[in-house]
Amino acid sequence: MIPADVDYYRPATLEEAVKMLQNYGTEAKLLSGGHSLLPILKARLAQPEILIDIGHIPGMSGMVMENNAIVIGALTTHHEIASSPIVQKACFLLAETAGQIGDVQVRNRGTIGGSLAHADPAADYPAAMIALDAEIVLTGPEGARSMRAENFFEGAYETAIVGNEILSSVVVPIPPSGSGGVYCKAAQGASGFAVCGVAATLTLGNGTIESAGVGITGVAGAAYRANRVEEALAGLAPTAENIETAAAHAADEVDPLEDFYASADFRRQLARVWTGRALAQAAERAKS
Ligand SMILES: Cc1cc2nc3c(=O)[nH]c(=O)nc-3n(C[C@H](O)[C@H](O)[C@H](O)COP(=O)(O)OP(=O)(O)OC[C@H]3O[C@@H](n4cnc5c(N)ncnc54)[C@H](O)[C@@H]3O)c2cc1C
Repeated sequence: MIPADVDYYRPATLEEAVKMLQNYGTEAKLLSGGHSLLPILKARLAQPEILIDIGHIPGMSGMVMENNAIVIGALTTHHEIASSPIVQKACFLLAETAGQIGDVQVRNRGTIGGSLAHADPAADYPAAMIALDAEIVLTGPEGARSMRAENFFEGAYETAIVGNEILSSVVVPIPPSGSGGVYCKAAQGASGFAVCGVAATLTLGNGTIESAGVGITGVAGAAYRANRVEEALAGLAPTAENIETAAAHAADEVDPLEDFYASADFRRQLARVWTGRALAQAAERAKS
């Protein structure tokens, strides 16, 4: 289908884009890579009057290391993250996540900011952001504020972005030495979206688990932190038995989705099994 007519603007700076959002309010939609928005416009599920294309604003893409974290501009594409030597070396889990998104075309156009702001309950990045304890930076008329990723996803396609804010960057702490991280998923056949995607990080010290981070996507209405799994692992050796016992809590705190791809019971089962797999592999990586 062909989208309804829109007025198209291309601001040159982030500040100009924020001002445009202020002026046009709910009549306007931001456009980044367009890989979620354009299908929606074509299906006429949304009919904004104005498109503000932020996809060409200088300084909003790329990755830099700062204060033991990787700062990633919102316009950085999935391909740039997957293939970045910085990310592959300092935070392999993130590169691994980006590399599993959709197909080559999607990874070449889609952006991390667009994906996180869109908050598809089956998107991959949210699980990784939660497991890695990333901060999401939002820029609005009053300046920038940041929040922990686990507080950002409020429901299906719902985030903590308010009013005229633009997701401008993401700050991902570099995991300490002795850590291992993994992203793995049971994917929808055609699109690659997660029916269940699990990001897990483990930090080992003296043969036991000092800390664990587990983010799960695709299972509930929004990506979530598996608190009970993390708590169950603290201070234990990363044995198969301990991991299996902890992974059994993967869906304790959510009501799993039920749809064409999987029943709620099956999603609960997927969450348990894929959390166990992710943790076992994270432990191996941490040891090596
Ligand atoms: C065939 C196909 C397969 C896919 N498979 C997967 C998959 O396996 N896993 C996965 O995670 N994703 C998948 N995706 C989604 C893909 O990752 C999108 O690129 C991503 O969800 C949106 O990023 P975008 O830059 O294209 O955003 P856009 O489509 O431009 O925007 C998406 C939404 O976010 C808003 N927005 C955009 N940028 C910002 C910003 N900086 N601040 C605030 N709001 C903003 C827009 O207004 C819009 O509402 C797939 C998409 C397609 C078409």
